[in-house]
Amino acid sequence: MSFEVLGLSEELLSAVSDAGYTKPTEIQAKTIPSALMGRDVLGIAQTGTGKTASFTLPMIDILANGRSRARMPRSLILEPTRELAVQVAENFDNYGKNHKLNHALIMGGVNFGDQEKLLDKGVDVIIATPGRLLDLFERGKFLMTGIEILVIDEADRMLDMGFIPDIEKIFKLITKNHQTLFFSATMAPPIARLTEQFLSDPKKIEV
Ligand code: AMP
Repeated sequence: MSFEVLGLSEELLSAVSDAGYTKPTEIQAKTIPSALMGRDVLGIAQTGTGKTASFTLPMIDILANGRSRARMPRSLILEPTRELAVQVAENFDNYGKNHKLNHALIMGGVNFGDQEKLLDKGVDVIIATPGRLLDLFERGKFLMTGIEILVIDEADRMLDMGFIPDIEKIFKLITKNHQTLFFSATMAPPIARLTEQFLSDPKKIEV
């Protein structure tokens, strides 16, 4: 299968080709068309499978036609660790190099003032670890009401790190009708419960 048949824009196909990818990985081939249609996705996949592109590529195309407003990010990607958040941000910049989308990295160890300035201007995507995100939210620095796409990545590691209550809180704060792309390497009972409560008729993909 080629990337061309997945429904992505020319700008993205060009970025993907520049990245040196010749064909989609299994998780990409199965996730991208459903995500582009606006469906919730429940992906059971390990790191190293090309999972990051399976959610960032459709997200970039979905967000490309709208405009972000001050303190109202349109998309939120949650990662369990700073290292993963940084990697995802790098991928997002790389895949999105032909688009005018911007992101804020919200995590411990990053300067608060710079993050707040970005949020004031308006960002399309927040890439964050859950604790610092809730901290900034509770101090009124941004609203969750504009979130159109929520990504929960590496849910099994979120569980190991005690982040499930934070994730539940975030799900409850996103009141708008939104799309959720949820990834985990395993389906431990607390993770299965979370998906049953907060995903809506997800397309289940296991690789
Ligand atoms: P991930 O599982 O998202 O962390 O991706 C693992 C690695 O695979 C990263 O270095 C990506 O740049 C690379 N990658 C992702 N998609 C593809 C693809 N379709 N073809 C070749 N490499 C890829």
